[in-house]
Order: sequence, then structure tokens, then C-alpha cells
Amino acid sequence: MVNQKMYLLGSAPSEIREIFSYGLARKAQIGADRVFDFSLGNPNVPAPDAVRDAIVSLTELPPQQLHGYTPAQGLPSTRQAIAASISRRFGVEAKADSIYLTVGAAASLDISLTALCDPGDEVIVIAPYFPEYKMWIEARECTCVEVLTRQDDFQLDLPAIEAAITHRTKAIIINSPNNPVGSVYPREALQLLARVLESKQREYDAAIYLISDEPYREIAYAGIEVPYIPCLYPNTIVCYSYSKSLSLPGERIGYIYVSERVQDAHRVYAAVCGAGRALGFVCAPALFQRVIERCVDVPSDVEAYAENRRLLTEGLSRLGYEYVEPQGAFYLWVKALEPDAEAFAARAKAHEILLVASDGFGTKGWARIGYCVSRDTIVDSMPAFADLMAEYRRLDSQQPAGV
Ligand code: PLP
Repeated sequence: MVNQKMYLLGSAPSEIREIFSYGLARKAQIGADRVFDFSLGNPNVPAPDAVRDAIVSLTELPPQQLHGYTPAQGLPSTRQAIAASISRRFGVEAKADSIYLTVGAAASLDISLTALCDPGDEVIVIAPYFPEYKMWIEARECTCVEVLTRQDDFQLDLPAIEAAITHRTKAIIINSPNNPVGSVYPREALQLLARVLESKQREYDAAIYLISDEPYREIAYAGIEVPYIPCLYPNTIVCYSYSKSLSLPGERIGYIYVSERVQDAHRVYAAVCGAGRALGFVCAPALFQRVIERCVDVPSDVEAYAENRRLLTEGLSRLGYEYVEPQGAFYLWVKALEPDAEAFAARAKAHEILLVASDGFGTKGWARIGYCVSRDTIVDSMPAFADLMAEYRRLDSQQPAGV
């Protein structure tokens, strides 16, 4: 027999992946240009030229350097380059020995939760949230405590977070810029959150860690500030990834930064190394460690996503859709045209529009449109969005008065 929990996870693929697979099959059936696939956060923007140049020149290295094992936590020179970049950009004193290279944010989060949590602990997530959080938390035999954002603006509901903290709370995961809403939490809100966490730490005489999930850090629009949370709350562990910032999701490269200000930082970093070892997440891909070392300060192509955001929001506004104006990441959180978001997504699918209902993100009544797609997909999808809206208007007009 196999492990039942793992069997269930493996035999029920994630809803997002399922829609994505449907999209691939549907494109093969009716043509790629007739399916408007907004399901996955797979960046369409090419990786920067600097990445390509680095790969090409690195292939000249002796094979043992290019393909050999690195230390479990990553090459010292790569960790040094990342630490220097963090120090330069955010005015902290990051050290190479505080960085652990990983295979992307997914591994960073899984390792961090494993390093911090014991069975029975509680981890707070802010709903709507990236669905894998719950799986990783529960795999550690911990409880995933969902706290909804404010429902009018999808920002942090600080009284609700405060009320959810108990003596069992080990960590809270914060994701800003956010998937699926595209919101960015402002400095004042994060400062207030820090105050709440600090006061609860004193009350329970125990550390409460803030896990900052940051794959979208570089993708913020119109000068919006994305505050660096280790500067605001000492017990912060950063889970970073180059999947989105450098468009490298398939290369699986990211890192964990255990801020020097974390209480017992050396012990926490050792636990991160231990969790990486226990999970088999050691020695991230050697070639891409070296690529990152060379490209650590290469900027993301935010303009391309900004243009997609403009096209999509202007188009949907004209058609009468309601949405949350994205401040970062590449997702639009659009209000479903009926209370049942799953039914709305099914109707959209019938118009060849593939989006993800909010239920899977822990919230009712909304849907996520991933706009990391080509400009043509957005422009060409507008008649389908118009037909979808017209269908709902027809349905509404057929409702008897007073219903
Ligand atoms: N966290 C969030 C909020 C994400 O959206 C994603 C991927 O879409 C991840 C983590 C995982 O990212 P990675 O590809 O770096 O593992």
C-alpha cells in the first residue's frame, strides 16, 4: 500500500493545472489562437538577454564545474552575490551564510515550513491565497488557518489576523505582490502587522515567524513601493524565486533568506539546512546558480506586463466587468457575473476563456485572469468577454421581476 495522503494529492491534480491541461488539448483541437488561456502564471515575457548570454558563456566551463554537485545550500559565490544584492537594495546587512539556494519559491516555502513547524502548530494564510500553501502546511501535520482579506479592497484585515493568532501560531505567510489578487500591501499596513505580531510574541512568549513569499517582488506598477519586510519585522524569512522576475519558471531556481535579525538566526538557518536535507532539496541546479550569480541585478521586464494590464483592464472596463486594479504581479481579480464562481468559470470556458474560479483560492465570487500572455491573446479575447457579458445580461433580463 501507499501513503494515503500522498495518493490523494497525486490523484487529484491542482485545479489550475487541470484547466491548463484542458487548454493545451483544446488548442490542439480548435487552434491555439481561438483559445484564450489565462489559467497559469507561466510568464510569456522572454528571459532577459543577459540570462541567455550568461548561459552561453557558462557552457565553456569545465564539465565538472558546470554539471557537478555544489554545496547543499548553494555555491558560496552565488550566495555572496545574492547577499550583496539584498544589502545594496534594501539597506540590510545580508550575509552569504544566511542564504540557502532552492528550486524555486515552492521549495523555499516547503523548506521554511518544515524548518519552523512542529505537528499541531498553526500557520496563518491570507485568503485568497496560493492554494499550495495549504498542502505544504498540512503535509507538516499543521493547521492552515485562513484569514480573509478585507472584502472591499482585498487588503490585510489586521483585527481579523490579530484574532486568529493563538499560542499555537508558528508563522504567517504574506505574499505581496499577491497571487491571485495583484494587490501590494503598503508600508503602513505591514508596520501595523509587525506591531500585532510583536505584541502576540510577547503575550505568548514565543516566536511568530513571518514567511514572506516573494516571487512577484520585482513586478510592481507605476512606482508602487514593495516594502522589504525584514526591515519592518525582525522574525522574517524571505522565500524568493527567479521564476517570474527573470522568466525562468522551468529552471527551478530561488532562495531562502533568513534575516540576521531573526531571533536565533543561526539556529533557524541550521534548521533550514536540515529541512532542505530531509526533503532532498539540496544543491539547486548548478548551471542556474551560476547564471543567477551573473544576473542577480538584471531588472524584470515590468513594462510588458504593464501594457498587458492596461489592455485588459481598459477592455474589461468598457464591457462592464468589475475588478481589483492590480498593483503588482500579473493577475487580474475579476468579479464573477454570478455568485457561484465555478459556474461563472464554466460559462467562460464555453466561450473559450480559461480562467480560475476563486473557490480554489479560498474565496467565493471572483475569478483570476493570469495576464502573463501574449498581447494578441488579450486583444483577441475581447469579443469572447463581450459575448460572456451579453449572455449574463440576457439571463438577467429573463429573470422574473423581483427575483
Ligand atoms: N508562491 C506564489 C504566490 C506563486 O504564485 C508561485 C507560483 O506561481 C509560487 C509560490 C511557486 O513559485 P516557483 O515557480 O518559484 O516555485
